[in-house]
Parts: sequence; C-alpha cells; structure tokens
Amino acid sequence: MSGVPALELERLSVAYGRITVVREIDLEVPASGVVCLLGRNGAGKTTLLKAVMGLLPRTGTVRIDGRDSTGWSGARVNRAGVAWVPQESGVFPGITVAEHLHVATRFDRAGLDREVLDLFPVLEQRSNQHADTLSGGERKMLGMALAMLSRPRLILLDEPTEGVAPVIVDELVDLIKRLSERCALLLVEQNLDTALATGDHCYVLEQGSIVASGDPRTLHRDGELEARLAV
Ligand code: ATP
Repeated sequence: MSGVPALELERLSVAYGRITVVREIDLEVPASGVVCLLGRNGAGKTTLLKAVMGLLPRTGTVRIDGRDSTGWSGARVNRAGVAWVPQESGVFPGITVAEHLHVATRFDRAGLDREVLDLFPVLEQRSNQHADTLSGGERKMLGMALAMLSRPRLILLDEPTEGVAPVIVDELVDLIKRLSERCALLLVEQNLDTALATGDHCYVLEQGSIVASGDPRTLHRDGELEARLAV
C-alpha cells in the first residue's frame, strides 16, 4: 500500500495508575481497507482506541495522516479526520433518529449527505422513531451513520457486532465492507467470523501486547487465531 497511513502507532503504551494495560504497540492502518484488532475481554482494545482519540494519557507516538497527534484533544483528532464509534453508542432518549442526524450536521441539511444516508436505509425507515427505542443492531448503525456524517478518513469501530443477532451481524458485515469503500477502518472485534469476512490485515492483542499480526485468513489457517480468542 502506498501513501501515508491513516494511523501509525509507535511503541504506544497506556496505564491506569500503575497498571499498564497497553504495552509498546506498533500498529499501522493504511489509507484504505480494514485493519482488525482482535483480542479477548480485557485485552486492552478499547483503551487503545481511547488513547488514539487523545482521551487517555499515553507514551509513544500516535501519527494521524502522518502528523504526530501528541497533545491533541479528542475534538482535534476528530477534525483531523478520525471518527470513533464506541462499543456502547450512546443515544439521547426522546430524540428521534432524524434529530440525531441533524444535530450531527449542526442542522445543515445539505450536510445530510444522500450518499451517507443511502448506506443506512433502515435508519430512513426509522427516522421518526425515538433513538432509544431502536434495536441493538439499529443503534450500532446509527452510531456508524453519525460517524460517517463527519466524513472521516478513518473510523475506529469498537465491537460493532457484539450482542447483536446473527442475521444482523451479516448486515453489519456488509455495511462495514461498504464503509471501507469510503474510508479506512480500524475494527476492534472478538468475533473471528467478522474479522475473516472484512479484514485485510489483523493484529491480535493479548494482555496489552501484540502477539500476532498478518492476513487474518492466513493466521486462521495456521491456527493462530482460534486458540488466542477462545475464552
Ligand atoms: P472488552 O472486549 O471486554 O471491552 P478490552 O479489550 O476493550 O475489553 P479494555 O476495556 O481496554 O479491554 O480494558 C483493558 C484493561 O484495563 C482491563 O483489565 C480493564 O479492567 C482495565 N481498565 C479499563 N478501564 C479502566 C479504568 N478506567 N481504570 C482502571 N482500569 C481500567
């Protein structure tokens, strides 16, 4: 892959107090495609994403589009083209889907880009429904749509398939593929099938350290993934 990577981590470490939970991570997300970060519960995946967003103290270097982001706030990271979709995408109770989308564009109707909305037909069907009454899968889609409206170059997607029905997992996998035609994705997952279906490259995190990386299908064939992800 040529060009400047969307994201580069060099010896990234993060600690909560005296406990280090992300250790000296080197990781790269190219300007396009899907990179998966796989790991069991508590491996440090969400902590890594928060550190990239500038929300936690860290050591090492985080480069966004080739620029060192040390000292940047979350808002600045977002303005630099990185959108974060947390595992639990919060929604405002009593506020409709359409109102969420309008707030995300600061009520700029032109900002409600047809191309983005076309990616999420279910949200259009639910546009007058209160967002807190959406199903788990629909909420995940709303989180992704809100992220897409900032026209990011990179989306950090935290466990989008966690806790949703298998049929919705298939829909989310299709959606991830379609999003990846528009921007780069760092996809945090525990679900091996999602990584195998979408990932161009993957890293496996164990107790805060990268223990394997490469093409997910090759690693799977070599038996590197199942054992490392099994509970
Ligand atoms: P999961 O898949 O369950 O979401 P994860 O891989 O995202 O897990 P993290 O949430 O990053 O893991 O947590 C990594 C470790 O850091 C865990 O041991 C967790 O208990 C600990 N941890 C997370 N947040 C804090 C915090 N605010 N203070 C102290 N320890 C924390």
